Amino acid sequence: MKPDFDVAIIGGGPAGSTMASYLARAGLSVAVFESETFPRPHVGESLVPATTPVLHEIGVLDKIDEANFPKKYGASWTSAESRDIPKMGYSGLSHGWTADIAFVERNQPGVDRDYTFHVDRGLFDSILLRHADEQGAKVFNGVRVLKTDFSDPDLVRLTVRLATREVDFTAGMVVDASGRQTLLGRQLKVKVADPVFDQYAVHTWFEGLDREEIAQDAAQVDHIFVHFLPIKDTWVWQIPITDKITSIGVVTQKKRFAESAGDREQFFWDFVSSRPELHDALKNAERVREFKAEGDYSYAMKQICGDRFVLIGDAARFVDPIFSSGVSVALNSARIAAQDIIAAHAAGDYDKKRFETYETKLRNAVKYWYEFISIYYRLNVLFTAFVQDPRYRIDVLKMLQGDVYDGEEPKALKAMREVVAEVENNPDHLWHPYLGTLKAPTSAPSF
Ligand SMILES: Cc1cc2nc3c(=O)[nH]c(=O)nc-3n(C[C@H](O)[C@H](O)[C@H](O)COP(=O)(O)OP(=O)(O)OC[C@H]3O[C@@H](n4cnc5c(N)ncnc54)[C@H](O)[C@@H]3O)c2cc1C
Repeated sequence: MKPDFDVAIIGGGPAGSTMASYLARAGLSVAVFESETFPRPHVGESLVPATTPVLHEIGVLDKIDEANFPKKYGASWTSAESRDIPKMGYSGLSHGWTADIAFVERNQPGVDRDYTFHVDRGLFDSILLRHADEQGAKVFNGVRVLKTDFSDPDLVRLTVRLATREVDFTAGMVVDASGRQTLLGRQLKVKVADPVFDQYAVHTWFEGLDREEIAQDAAQVDHIFVHFLPIKDTWVWQIPITDKITSIGVVTQKKRFAESAGDREQFFWDFVSSRPELHDALKNAERVREFKAEGDYSYAMKQICGDRFVLIGDAARFVDPIFSSGVSVALNSARIAAQDIIAAHAAGDYDKKRFETYETKLRNAVKYWYEFISIYYRLNVLFTAFVQDPRYRIDVLKMLQGDVYDGEEPKALKAMREVVAEVENNPDHLWHPYLGTLKAPTSAPSF
C-alpha cells in the first residue's frame, strides 16, 4: 500500500517547518501536523547567526528581513559584582564579570551579515510555517498527533485528533519535531532527564523599558543582555522584541523557585530586586504579558533516529537556554537530517542506518554546546575571562555564533576544560570560591 505521504512531521515550530521546506523543495510529499493554531506565543526569542544560512537555503530569508525584527549585533553580560576578580593571567579582566561581544568581529562561513535577529516567536514561527506550505508541504493546523504506530514494516501510521474525531494517516517515515513535548521520545521510552541541569525560568514582556539606560554604550542597545544575579547559577535575559517591547526572563535552579513558595510574580520580583538598577528600570515599565514558567527542560535521548523515524530540534535534545542556541539547533538539525531523509527516500529505504550521519553530526555539535554551557555554569568568571582575552575571544565568538557543525572541537573548550579541572582540584586557587554548584558529567553516554 502506498502511504498518504512520504514523510509526516509532528510539530510546526522552527524545526518542523524548516524540515518541511527542505523536503517539499526536494519534491517529497510532506505533511506537517501542528496542534496549535498559529500565531501562538513561544519562548526562545533571540537567534544566533548560524540560523542565517538555513533561512537562506530554504528561501525564507527575504520574508524574515521584511518582518523588521530587531537586529541583534551581539551579546552583553552585566554583573552587580563590583569587586575586582583575580586576573589569573587572563588579560582585561578588571571589571568582574562583565563582557560584551559583537558578531562583526568574526567572519562566519555562509553568513552574509554581521547581525541576526531577536524575534516575536508568534510571528517568526508563523512565517516559517506559511513558507513551508508555500513550498508545497500540506500543513494541518490545530491537529494534534496522538500516537504513532510502527508495527507495519512498510509504513508508519499516525493517529491524529481532527476536531472531535480521531483519524489515521500513513507515511513512509515520521519526523518528530514536537519540541519539549517529545512525543516520540516518550512513546519509545528513550528520553533521559539531565542528571545535572534542572533549571527553571519565569518570563514576561515589558513595554517602555529604557534599554538605552541599561546599555553602557549605544552599540549595545539591541544586544541580548544576560544580567548575572548575585545568586549562584541565576541570571536574567533581556531581549528586544520591538523598539518598545522587551522580553525579560529569570533563570535559576528549580529548587530555588520551589523555595520561594511557587508564586511566579513574587519569585520574579524577589530575584530581580537583587539587581536594584534593573528592578527600578522594570518597575518604570509596563508589564504587557502574563508571567509564564518553563521547567524540566533539560534532557537527552538515548536514540535520535531509528527505522522510519528521526527526532529533530527540542524533540531530540535540550540543555539550557544560556547561549540562545535552541532555534539554531532546531534549524540546523532539520538541515542535516533533511539531507539523509532525501537520500533515504531516493533509495526507497528508511532504515536507521540511513540517518546515522545526522545522528553523529548532531550529537557532536550538541556535545560542544553541552560542555560550553556546563563550563559557563561551573565557572562564570572563566567565561568572561575568555571572552575578554584576545587569545580565546574569537574562538568563543565562533560558539556564540552557533558555528559548531563543522565537526571540529572549538579550541577554547580544551583550554577551558583544563582551567576548570585546575580550579576544582586546588582549594587554594584564587578562583576556587567562584565555582558554581552545577557540575556536569560531560562524558555521560547519552549526552
Ligand atoms: C527558558 C527558555 C529560554 C529560551 N531562550 C531561547 C533563546 O533566546 N533563543 C533560542 O534560540 N532558543 C531559546 N530557547 C529554546 C527554544 O525555545 C527552542 O529550542 C525552540 O523553540 C525549538 O524549536 P522546535 O521547533 O524544536 O520546538 P517548538 O518551537 O517547541 O515547536 C514544537 C511544535 O510542536 C507542536 N506540537 C507538540 N506536540 C504536538 C503533537 N502531539 N502534535 C502536533 N503538534 C505538536 C507544538 O505546538 C509546537 O508548535 C529557550 C528555551 C527555554 C526553555
